[in-house]
Amino acid sequence: MKNYSIWKEGVTLPEFKKLDKDIVVDVLIIGGGMTGINTLYQLRNSSLEVVLVEQNRVGMGVTVNSTGKLTYLQDSLYEKIKKSYDEEVAGKYLASQREAVELAVDIINKNKIDCNLLKAPSYVYANEEGEEAKLRELKNFLEDNNVRVINGNSDLIEYKDMIGVEDTYLFQPLKYINGLISNIDKTSIYEDTSIVKMEKNDDGYICYTKDEFEIRAKWVVIASHYPYFNLPFLFPIKGSLEKSYLSASKYKEDNISLIKYDKPIISIRSYLDYILYLSNSHDNNSEVDDKKHYSELKKKLKTLGLDPEYMWSNIDIITNDGLPYVGKIDERLLIGTGYNTWGMANGILAGKILADIILDNDNKYLELFNPKRNNLGNLGGAILDGVKSISGYISGIVTDSEKVKYETLDGKEIAIYEDEEGEHKVYTKCPHMGCRLIFNETELTWDCPCHASRFDIDGKCISGPSNEDIIVEENT
Ligand SMILES: Cc1cc2nc3c(=O)[nH]c(=O)nc-3n(C[C@H](O)[C@H](O)[C@H](O)COP(=O)(O)OP(=O)(O)OC[C@H]3O[C@@H](n4cnc5c(N)ncnc54)[C@H](O)[C@@H]3O)c2cc1C
Repeated sequence: MKNYSIWKEGVTLPEFKKLDKDIVVDVLIIGGGMTGINTLYQLRNSSLEVVLVEQNRVGMGVTVNSTGKLTYLQDSLYEKIKKSYDEEVAGKYLASQREAVELAVDIINKNKIDCNLLKAPSYVYANEEGEEAKLRELKNFLEDNNVRVINGNSDLIEYKDMIGVEDTYLFQPLKYINGLISNIDKTSIYEDTSIVKMEKNDDGYICYTKDEFEIRAKWVVIASHYPYFNLPFLFPIKGSLEKSYLSASKYKEDNISLIKYDKPIISIRSYLDYILYLSNSHDNNSEVDDKKHYSELKKKLKTLGLDPEYMWSNIDIITNDGLPYVGKIDERLLIGTGYNTWGMANGILAGKILADIILDNDNKYLELFNPKRNNLGNLGGAILDGVKSISGYISGIVTDSEKVKYETLDGKEIAIYEDEEGEHKVYTKCPHMGCRLIFNETELTWDCPCHASRFDIDGKCISGPSNEDIIVEENT
């Protein structure tokens, strides 16, 4: 079994060099996932000098670990938005998502991007008490907004009711990123280049890389998924993190795109002769036992007659009100994040919105996605998020893996994992806020139970908010 995303197969992205000098640009984009690369693409023909820096490799953050659905049928998200606001705001979000799917398809077709784009109806199903009534409400909401709703059926899952929409798609996200890159000036991307500090000045911002180079930029776009730079954004109380477990197994049927209406989410899609099956979603801060989740997922797959060839996990940001954060957080500081596990189409749309802001073009979604909107919700919600983070911190302290030995080096705890290649030593504290990391035995990663940073077996940071590694220099 392979312990990484199936999207890493069959595509080799070009490698980009590390930034090795101070530079002055018009726009700096921090992060090379769906949001960052799409923003760069949208600015490619402008007269502005634009640079994107990626702390790891382009596309290898949350984007490569998604299920790659391009759809506006987004489980119970419309219900959440209606509860936070009203029917009208939920309708506006629906319109934005339909437009985002069209934009994605338009970009793919215009640039002839080979990314296994497949028009596939999306279905959402109910199989629990109370879900059927909610599905009927969703159907009414969609029809009220002029969406044609169809009935669905499936042999793969048990369900009480299922509805679908037709004009949605499936694609291979990493091939999409690769296709976009081939339309972008290669000198505008730097990999292995992490921004660790940012200062405001009269002309915009000075951003400092880990290697202590300066990037002076009039505009900065934070496309780093979890916003490392918290202030003035107050992120930790504006969202939370959700982790899920995924698999890809050989399967006979094509054209499948299903999702369960409510939590615990199950999401299924076909890809060539595979089927991807996602389950066991949970708050990143709670239920931190990855082994248990993988074992439950494997059991479920067995009952369906599926034998996983690939297994991996992924974490996304869930916002308090169900709407993304895309736009200005300061005069020249922009952000695109908080996609509630729907960042394929949303990331593509965010690229357009962020570019429109920089180019001073009108964009009708500025108000809807305004990252500075007041959505702190009730104080209770904010406190709960803080409590969850602390519970993640405690889980990290008490969770030891039997496969790992722990020692102390210069007063700091280190963990040692041994395999046929030798010993792999890492520091066990997350550099971001000091939580104790948990060993993910399936993917051989060190995962932060508080804010979802991830590190590989030798301590290299593979996912933020940390922008530091946990490498013990004497690694073999
Ligand atoms: C289980 C799961 C399944 C999903 N499936 C779908 C789906 O089917 N359809 C859908 O629409 N959405 C899906 N999503 C959501 C989607 O994957 C994400 O919302 C989207 O990929 C986020 O893109 P991003 O560009 O914001 O983040 P990323 O892809 O993580 O990109 C951010 C990049 O910034 C870099 N970075 C971070 N900090 C720094 C720094 N300081 N300096 C430089 N670089 C930095 C990171 O290395 C990373 O590469 C899913 C999410 C999950 C969790």
